[in-house]
Amino acid sequence: MAIERVGAPCHLTIARNDRVWEQPRLTALPLRDYNATWSVFQSNLFAFKSTIFGVPRREFCYAGDWFFYLDLGTGIASQCYNGGYIGHLFDDVDRPIAFRPIGYQCPLAHCYNGHAFLSLGVIPELQTPTYASLRNRECPDGREWLTEPMKRFLSGKLAETNSQLSAEEQAKACYQNPKPSRFKLCKYALLSRILWKSKREHYREKLEKLRNPSKH
Ligand code: SF4
Repeated sequence: MAIERVGAPCHLTIARNDRVWEQPRLTALPLRDYNATWSVFQSNLFAFKSTIFGVPRREFCYAGDWFFYLDLGTGIASQCYNGGYIGHLFDDVDRPIAFRPIGYQCPLAHCYNGHAFLSLGVIPELQTPTYASLRNRECPDGREWLTEPMKRFLSGKLAETNSQLSAEEQAKACYQNPKPSRFKLCKYALLSRILWKSKREHYREKLEKLRNPSKH
């Protein structure tokens, strides 16, 4: 149907099992068979997502600063899925937003929507294809799904228009990170909060070392 209506096969994502912390692929197939089944669509989105699916992110992530998660039903913003609380944006739309990067405290087992977040560059040190290249399709008649302006827009990286933090600023951001949101109904919220607490002391010490290297 996609070929008939829009000139090329649809892109694919990876369905996941949200009932367990690891959020694995939602399939009974062994991984090799799963990939063989779906790779026939030759979807760049699926191919890139397969490389990041299940990989915990250990790099400094600017979620909460360069983008955030907004619940349009309530107006509650958090740094990322299950990330720290940023604010209730609909309460006062003139109030400045308290942007705060989540840093090294990714609250999830893996960046399951990294085909968007990572390709747009929320972790600048990570080399990724552009989001445009994952979303576009070239049709047999030469037409493309993305128009030129949209292709240019989705080819950008967030670091081109945002400032990166120094090592000291990164440690400070991690130390001051807000608790994972208690407003979201997420059964993993408690686990995220325990992890957040255990990491807090680590970043306090790191910040101290960066500020006073001679003492350490
Ligand atoms: S899920 Fe992805 S975007 Fe969100 S904090 Fe983790 S690495 Fe960053």
